[in-house]
Amino acid sequence: MYRTHTCGQLRLADAGTNVTLAGWVQTVRKFGSITFVDLRDRYGITQLLFNETLNQQLDEQPLGREFVLQAIGTVHERSNKNANMPTGDIEILVSEFKILNKSAVPPFTIQDDTDGGDDLRMKYRYLDLRRNPVKRNLELRYAVNRAARNYLHDNGFMDIETPFLIKSTPEGARDFVVPSRMNAGQFYALPQSPQTFKQLLMVSGYDRYYQVVKCFRDEDLRADRQPEFTQIDCEMCFVEQEDILKMFEGMIKYIFKQVKGIDYTETVERTTWEDAMWTYGNDKPDIRFGMKIGNLKVPSTIFLSRQQELSNSPLGVGGTGFAVFDNAETVLAIAVPGCAEYTRKQTDELTEWVKRPQIGMQGLVFLKYNADGTVKSSVDKFFNPEQLKHIAASCKGQPGDLILILAGREEKTRKATSDLRMELGKRLGLRKENEFKLLWVLDFPLFEYAEEENRWVARHHPFTSPKPEQIGTMINNNPVIENAADYLNHPYSNIKANAYDMVLNGNEIGGGSIRIFQRDLQEKMFAALGMDEEEQQHKFGFLLGAFEYGAPPHGGIAFGFDRLCSILGGSESIRDFIAFPKNNSGRDVMIDAPSVIDQKQFDELQIKLDLK
Ligand code: ASP
Repeated sequence: MYRTHTCGQLRLADAGTNVTLAGWVQTVRKFGSITFVDLRDRYGITQLLFNETLNQQLDEQPLGREFVLQAIGTVHERSNKNANMPTGDIEILVSEFKILNKSAVPPFTIQDDTDGGDDLRMKYRYLDLRRNPVKRNLELRYAVNRAARNYLHDNGFMDIETPFLIKSTPEGARDFVVPSRMNAGQFYALPQSPQTFKQLLMVSGYDRYYQVVKCFRDEDLRADRQPEFTQIDCEMCFVEQEDILKMFEGMIKYIFKQVKGIDYTETVERTTWEDAMWTYGNDKPDIRFGMKIGNLKVPSTIFLSRQQELSNSPLGVGGTGFAVFDNAETVLAIAVPGCAEYTRKQTDELTEWVKRPQIGMQGLVFLKYNADGTVKSSVDKFFNPEQLKHIAASCKGQPGDLILILAGREEKTRKATSDLRMELGKRLGLRKENEFKLLWVLDFPLFEYAEEENRWVARHHPFTSPKPEQIGTMINNNPVIENAADYLNHPYSNIKANAYDMVLNGNEIGGGSIRIFQRDLQEKMFAALGMDEEEQQHKFGFLLGAFEYGAPPHGGIAFGFDRLCSILGGSESIRDFIAFPKNNSGRDVMIDAPSVIDQKQFDELQIKLDLK
């Protein structure tokens, strides 16, 4: 028997017991004729005490860090207790020990605050995984997984596996492809999600499906993306949007409770996509803080429903005499609470911040709404105090606030304003780490226009249904646009989807939709996306066929499991919550993948490599 107890198990009540422990040597501390060793395993650390007799043996067989050690001995009360350790009241007086395996000196210290840099830790990920912070992240991941499964099981969901070797599923990314040896010249695609399979399961009558499943997307990677990632993927029959929202806010609240002990009793807030873009410049707003955007000028085709609000703004959408605003497509403002007293140095720094290439703005206009009610701005020449106060009012500025105004092209300016808002929210401590705020974003546009390709693309995916009252608009209009720049005037621009995203603290953690379940509407959708009949048949003939055999109304959602874990764990990076993640170039530096393959493998696949 290798051990009787784990290294996290023994307490004062066990004093006097004979035990055998096994684990890794964390530290060796020699004090004259005695030696203390901290022995570590997954469960904790226990102090071992080697007395004089054993010390001699230790001289002959010295222990090093990360050696695998078995120790037999008796549990003793410690004279020098350590209240920070669960086992800190006891130590093991060792009578016998055995080195089960030696270890080379690890390339970095296996401690909470390690001296290992990112690259080194990834190369030796199996050592990094021994560290407590990483272990805690994986434990949290497992807790989230278990909570999700329990909730779904309790609500009648059934875990059904779907294949990995499939045909392309469009989620808007590039596919990873796998050559088929048995069907030379043909390729599988790895699923970007199990989307079509879960819909087919609904056609088969398996109401309430779920899966915690790997998805693969060949995208350029940002810090919070991985080429393979995990979704909690769900689908239900005979549901409307409201049913899905209720079911899955229930799931997230359950996870909060189980994993973080948080009672999220408040109603989950909801916003439309348009409101989110209008108010926060972003479709995944962090609503832990306000700093809402004042829209001073927007192009007339965007936010049609807001034109009234805008024309009531004293600044109007027209000219003001200030060229920067006059020539800009969009002028947006935010009020930074309590920052009217910013110094020149501080405001200059903010200007530099918005000029950085990632933000790419030309400059920033300031308006100080002083605590005494007076206003002072960098554009005093062009606006009288009354007008300046109106600008401040557009973003709900109060005396004491610093108003920041950005002007430029619509999309860029909105994004920059949103980024600036997030940055200031962070700097001012308004994005509190231990506060969790959920938000449903609803009524997304069904289509987006890809100007370069001159065609419509599905904003969520092509299986998402339009709002029922807009099906006519979809069917009765020709999707073709003569002049690409005019796309905002096309009726398709205004069709809203039965789609929803769940946002947590400014991150999209889940998204889904009520699906199209009629063959003719699905065909119309494919056609709108520029697929002719042949292509539809080739790519999705199976689904169109299935829709002819009694497809029920259905809908679903998928949660980004890695991201959900990272937010609950208070980290920016999903990598920290994946046992064996890839780096930013999509490489696994530990196993060194991707890598070249043998000529024999190419021959079997009948593939000749001819790199461009
Ligand atoms: N398959 C979708 C996605 O991966 C989610 C869904 O519509 O259920 O985003």
